[in-house]
Amino acid sequence: MLAFITAAMLTMQACFSRSQCNTLVLVCAAMLCSGLSQSLSIPLLDDEGLRASLTVPALDAGAYLLSASAMVLLYRPGFPRRTLVLALVLALLIFGLGHLFWPGEMAARAWAGLCQLLMFAGAAVVILNAQDALAPRMRQVAVALCIFCALAGLPPLLTVLGEPATALSLDKPWIRLQLLIHALTPVVFHACITGVMHSRLAQGLRHSADVDMLTGAHSRRYLFETGEKILSSQDKPGRDPATLLLIDVDHFKRFNDTWGHALGDNVLRHCVSCIRDVVRAGDTIIGRYGGEEFCVLLPSIAPRDATLLAERIRRHIANNPYQHGDLALPVTVSIGIAHHVERGSMMAMLSQADERLYRAKHAGRNRVIAQGDMLVPV
Ligand code: GH3
Ligand code: MG
Ligand code: MG
Repeated sequence: MLAFITAAMLTMQACFSRSQCNTLVLVCAAMLCSGLSQSLSIPLLDDEGLRASLTVPALDAGAYLLSASAMVLLYRPGFPRRTLVLALVLALLIFGLGHLFWPGEMAARAWAGLCQLLMFAGAAVVILNAQDALAPRMRQVAVALCIFCALAGLPPLLTVLGEPATALSLDKPWIRLQLLIHALTPVVFHACITGVMHSRLAQGLRHSADVDMLTGAHSRRYLFETGEKILSSQDKPGRDPATLLLIDVDHFKRFNDTWGHALGDNVLRHCVSCIRDVVRAGDTIIGRYGGEEFCVLLPSIAPRDATLLAERIRRHIANNPYQHGDLALPVTVSIGIAHHVERGSMMAMLSQADERLYRAKHAGRNRVIAQGDMLVPV
């Protein structure tokens, strides 16, 4: 019943989720197999235990194979379909050929257990190697679940290997374990899949809010949020202050007006890439303040070093024109610098950097201005 309800819920989810549709359809099919297997098991249970049935182990094997494939696709959406189909065919061959050479329900359960063991062990390895940074915690849960499901395939296998002639009986602990796993699997799988989907959705939304789509720099929202956190942890004696560089592309409108907005967009990307070339990755935040204005927030730096860094950024951009086919289009920037003062806010730093940027523009552009000192281009 639980499996059928889960299958119905997953079908509804599949209708609304285009990106996870394949996975949901696979889990849905797995839950249907599992539900059918459980429904058929009930009439087979009598006072003497379980009566023979090949359908139930075959359905179980199908449910496990489909569930393991769904887990792989959930964590590695780009996993080669051919490899997955090959693994499925191989597992089915093991089940079919095994049954051919060693008939009977006990053997069928053992083969189903072997398929389960192989498929889930494979799925655990694939998920462990997935480079998906979006849901690392959910990945651990999925690997644990795969290992559990793989190990659950062992009892029937070991029992058959140990005492091949034994009749099926509910007294056997592995049968009880299998029944328990069957009952729990739909709920656990549904929780796992829903968890991954929600976590992906939430992290995708956070990424869109934190990163500027055009340039890949941080968004203004991220810059302010993280900047305020950095500044609040700044007021410690003996520590260099945080510094903000406000960088504005000179005469940027001319790029748009002469070459079109698409080229203008590329020039913005080019500028961010030049800034990245110069500043140290790690704690430095590069953000797009708006339009053709960028901020670089240096959490702790000697004021003189910050000024030299700004000058290196200016020079690097000036020395690396934007390449438009054979044409080299010169790009220059003006930079205003502000240092953090005790209990100062991001807004206060920005307005000071803006005031210096304004002076740099009026002094002829392509220059850096910091604390009243003017650095003329070399
Ligand atoms: P100044 O040297 O005084 O800074 O001159 P400027 O031309 O760079 O500055 P102005 O403020 O006059 O023009 C900025 C232009 O940037 C106007 C706007 O259309 C353009 N712009 C803003 N955002 C984008 C964007 O995302 N892509 C493109 N292509 N252009 C943008
Ligand atoms: Mg501007
Ligand atoms: Mg400008």
